[in-house]
Amino acid sequence: MMEKYGKFELRSDAIEFIPSNRSNGRLLVHREYTYVSMNTKTRWYCSKKKMGCKTKLVITPEGEFVELLGQHDHPPPLLYRTQDGQIIKLN
Ligand SMILES: [Zn+2]
Repeated sequence: MMEKYGKFELRSDAIEFIPSNRSNGRLLVHREYTYVSMNTKTRWYCSKKKMGCKTKLVITPEGEFVELLGQHDHPPPLLYRTQDGQIIKLN
């Protein structure tokens, strides 16, 4: 049983991570969008960067939101949260 990972579940600027077999092993999740790291813990790029989206996210080394640069030009990926609290990316 999985629930849609909806905005209503999110603290406004909560940062979460999900396992990935790309991008150094994890994706960052912020407001329904996913980001990949470029060899730094604090600067993240939209996971649709290769599709032309230039949105970037800056966080502190402790994982707290700092700022969002740019706007996504695409809908968010499909994310679901399992009952044990894990987030799964479906596309
Ligand atoms: Zn994007």
